[in-house]
Amino acid sequence: MQKADLLLTNGIFLTMDEEYHVYSPGAMAVREGCITAVGGQAEIEAEFQGEERFDCQGRVVIPGLVNAHTHVPMTLLRGIADDLRLDVWLQGYMFPVEREFATPDFVRLGTRLGCAELIRSGVTCFADMYYFEGDVAAATAEAGMRALCAQTVLKFPSPDAQSFEDSLAAAREFIQQWQDHALILPAVGPHSPYMCTADMLRQSAELAAEFDVPLHIHLSETALEVENSRHEHGMPVIPYVKKQNLFDAKVLAAHCVHIDEGEMRTLLHYNVGVAHNPSSNMKLASGFAPVAKMLETGLAVGIGTDGPASNNDLDMFEETRLAAFIAKGQSGMPTALPARTALTMATRLGAKALYLDDLIGSLEIGKSADVAIVDLDTLHNSPGFSRSADALYARLVYAAHAHDVTDVMVRGRWLMRGRHLMTLDEPELLRQAGEVARRIDSFLIERETSVFSKLVAIGGTTEGESFEVQVKVRIPDREQVIRALEAEPFSVLRTRRYREYDTYFVFADAKQGRLRYREDEFVGEDGEVYNVRYRLTLTGQARDQSYAHSILLSRSRFLAPATHSLRFYREYFQPEREIEIRKDRMRWLVHYHDTEFFINLDQVMQPELPKYFLEIKSRTWSRIDAENKAKLIVEMLKDLRLEKAEAVGAEYVELVEKSA
Ligand SMILES: [Zn+2]
Repeated sequence: MQKADLLLTNGIFLTMDEEYHVYSPGAMAVREGCITAVGGQAEIEAEFQGEERFDCQGRVVIPGLVNAHTHVPMTLLRGIADDLRLDVWLQGYMFPVEREFATPDFVRLGTRLGCAELIRSGVTCFADMYYFEGDVAAATAEAGMRALCAQTVLKFPSPDAQSFEDSLAAAREFIQQWQDHALILPAVGPHSPYMCTADMLRQSAELAAEFDVPLHIHLSETALEVENSRHEHGMPVIPYVKKQNLFDAKVLAAHCVHIDEGEMRTLLHYNVGVAHNPSSNMKLASGFAPVAKMLETGLAVGIGTDGPASNNDLDMFEETRLAAFIAKGQSGMPTALPARTALTMATRLGAKALYLDDLIGSLEIGKSADVAIVDLDTLHNSPGFSRSADALYARLVYAAHAHDVTDVMVRGRWLMRGRHLMTLDEPELLRQAGEVARRIDSFLIERETSVFSKLVAIGGTTEGESFEVQVKVRIPDREQVIRALEAEPFSVLRTRRYREYDTYFVFADAKQGRLRYREDEFVGEDGEVYNVRYRLTLTGQARDQSYAHSILLSRSRFLAPATHSLRFYREYFQPEREIEIRKDRMRWLVHYHDTEFFINLDQVMQPELPKYFLEIKSRTWSRIDAENKAKLIVEMLKDLRLEKAEAVGAEYVELVEKSA
């Protein structure tokens, strides 16, 4: 008789090994956290004597699920901003809130909360990417879970690093500290090619290769990302990162939604693991990853929930079901991605994608005892058929829920028994999370009431103020001004010409000021555009109002380069209405009686002023004949949206003719 620490008996064991062995009734022997035997119950019991016995009561025993991509601490940001585009969501909400709130304590609490949810849904291992990853790792290990933890590397200042150099140094330190841990696999996490420079991708890969740890990254998540990559680098995302030697490292690539077959072969060649995130891709409308094709190519494709702020849960049962359903719906083939394959992705293939397949992903001798036990004897999962093992996979993938998981074990240690969490205090976690939510709520409520603070939130460190005195005069003759500037007492120091395209965002509350998005085209001598500049200005209400003779004191509260698209700002600020103005601007810096100042000569191209307006302005109205007058009046009435404009106009014409 061999000794075991624990004997799991009386279960249906889905091993998820290469041959898909199923033992029913089966048993498993665990010693020092490892599986020492798995097989038919009679056979195991004849050979092993367990210090402890656990009766699985006919339930299904599977390898613990592997969540192949997430940002676990973001449990605390769940539901904070939804139904937005990826850039507005990420850069308008997530990043600003994280800059304000993501501290080591926040990260630990969020991780504990996430671990509780993951354990409840049968997950024993996850791949994470966040800030203060050392705290994610510590909280995870404390909860007894297994994780690949990637320390984020970004080109912007982040909550835990002022610069890229800082974040890379932090990643190095983190890897050194955790590299031999039994539960934690440290990794470096350059967020994505668009949030990193080429050099950062190279150095991240070098660091990962140096310590032989994985590199966790988002690749080809949206069509826009690929389009931008083609535009900026002349090639799609996968060849671009390959060129930066990214694949020198053991890469775990999240998403890969927009890749072609050539790119899939590249990923296969470099043994890249892929994390498919069906909920996140649907919620953020990123598209449908070609999962069936990737599997056919031979790629190790795992399944991930992505962060709980973009899903919004960590439920791997739901995710696995969606992976199967989407592959079917997308291909028009119900045979695509069968239940067994989907469950393989959630277990063995996920483990392979995380470079942990020697240790987890299937119930095999020598692997860690990372196990989930699922009760399929429920209303929504009854009755059960035993004609073919496929029925079992189908029950697990198409009908089972996360809350059907009753017991979870990692390295032979119970993390949940009889639905009771052994390592985490759920009510206390919920209380603390509620407190954090209240603080974030008041921060956002405060921010959302002011266009200015919303702008600061996405503008980073470029906040500034400028004050200026403007004198505005209507000029009847441009040439006259240009000639005057060429003579004494003016001396011209600099001349420029622009075409300006302005979009003003007007808000319901006029006190918020107006936000102007300006595109300046610098026009050269021969009319060619040699530079384009995008700027954002928040103009407060004119201070002390306008003076007589068009003099006004204006206050520019904020001036910054516009780093996002007009569409981004539109969706982020949600103005009540917009005004578009296009101007041709000549600008001189002049010296005049010991003072330097700018003179702008603007010609408004858009909006075109209505003809009647010009006629009235230029006082030629009295010289217009009756018929044309009538036409102009009709135009004016239409502009004023007066109904029956035509009829009123015709009546006027008739009257004029009669009186003539
Ligand atoms: Zn992600």
